[in-house]
Amino acid sequence: MALIVQKYGGTSVGSVERIQAVADRVIKGRDAGDQMIIVLSAMSGETNRLLELAAGVSDRPTPRELDVLLSTGEQVTIALLSMCLEARGYPARSYTGSQVRILTDSTHNKARIMDISDAKVRADLDAGRVVVVAGFQGIDEHGNVTTLGRGGSDTTAVAMAAALKADECQIYTDVDGVYTTDPRVVPEARRLDRITYEEMLEMASLGSKVLQIRSVEFASKYNVPLRVLSSFDEGGQGTLITSEETSMEQPVISGIAFNRDEAKLTILGVPDHPGVASKILGPIADANIEVDMIVQNVAADDTTDFTFTVHRNEFARGMEVLKQVARELSAREVKGDDKIIKISLVGVGMRSHAGIASKMFSTLAAENINIQMISTSEIKVSVVVDEKYLELGVRALHQAFDLKEDL
Ligand code: ASP
Ligand code: MG
Repeated sequence: MALIVQKYGGTSVGSVERIQAVADRVIKGRDAGDQMIIVLSAMSGETNRLLELAAGVSDRPTPRELDVLLSTGEQVTIALLSMCLEARGYPARSYTGSQVRILTDSTHNKARIMDISDAKVRADLDAGRVVVVAGFQGIDEHGNVTTLGRGGSDTTAVAMAAALKADECQIYTDVDGVYTTDPRVVPEARRLDRITYEEMLEMASLGSKVLQIRSVEFASKYNVPLRVLSSFDEGGQGTLITSEETSMEQPVISGIAFNRDEAKLTILGVPDHPGVASKILGPIADANIEVDMIVQNVAADDTTDFTFTVHRNEFARGMEVLKQVARELSAREVKGDDKIIKISLVGVGMRSHAGIASKMFSTLAAENINIQMISTSEIKVSVVVDEKYLELGVRALHQAFDLKEDL
């Protein structure tokens, strides 16, 4: 007998028929003797619909009231699934976040989970009930309803699994696992059987939207085995996300991530003194613009050039701030380009293999793709290139590193 947490996303509970299909799957687990905790999202589109309602009455809805509103979406699906299970003869109980007592801090709209009381849930499980929990929500110490940020049901599921020491946390969604890269760009992309938490965090922060990043951080911290599966197909094994120690022989490269939302800003000919980096990036941070890659290079004439990337939405604002900085520092010139993208190779196997970066660069060179910026970490190499090379670059790398499906 295992204790399994299953989480179903919006499309998996998007209609009464889909909720019946979730019940089928839960019943299968119960019949096999497993204890089951089910965490649900709201029906697909519901959270957005609620946000639109709020926008109809206020330009800036009070965060506390927004949480009262948004948390209702999940209350609908947990009640429906529990009713459905009971109607089919399987005892079940639904709980909102506050009923479980998922204690969070008081940061409305993006609260963090601090503690989960497991007593009530444990008692239900021991009595043979399926426990159905509303994702994405909790309660703060003053009794206010909070929500965890968009996509937060993933985090609820992992937190429940950690608190109850579940054997596995299964995230059911509309894709059947984590892929070597986006199959829309590379049709022969392959589903990974396993990936480490670290790799998944890199893939997620680089734009792969399968899981909320925080849920992966949480799973890594508490060592919760996390499996991504499709609720639309029977029998798939999905992708298991786990710690490095428990996975077997690692491939050198696990995946290729890319990000289309990049823009590049450059300030040229800045007199090179201690403190220039902070004088350039300080005002950018003060303007609340997040910086990704940074490259600085000193020229022979004692000036320095400084290039960094930001989210494309922040490009115009970043350029304004940088032009102001350039005047103050008597820099020569400011340039910008919002037609760039970032491609990254990710793999924990890189730690023990040399030559990954140079193979990446020669592969891109063979396609005549100019690399504008490079950055590396222990398990990642990223390059910035012109956006017109995204498909070509990703496909060439997928081929060169032999990531395709074994047919
Ligand atoms: N319903 C919430 C959202 O749409 C939470 C979730 O689905 O994970 O963001
Ligand atoms: Mg989701």
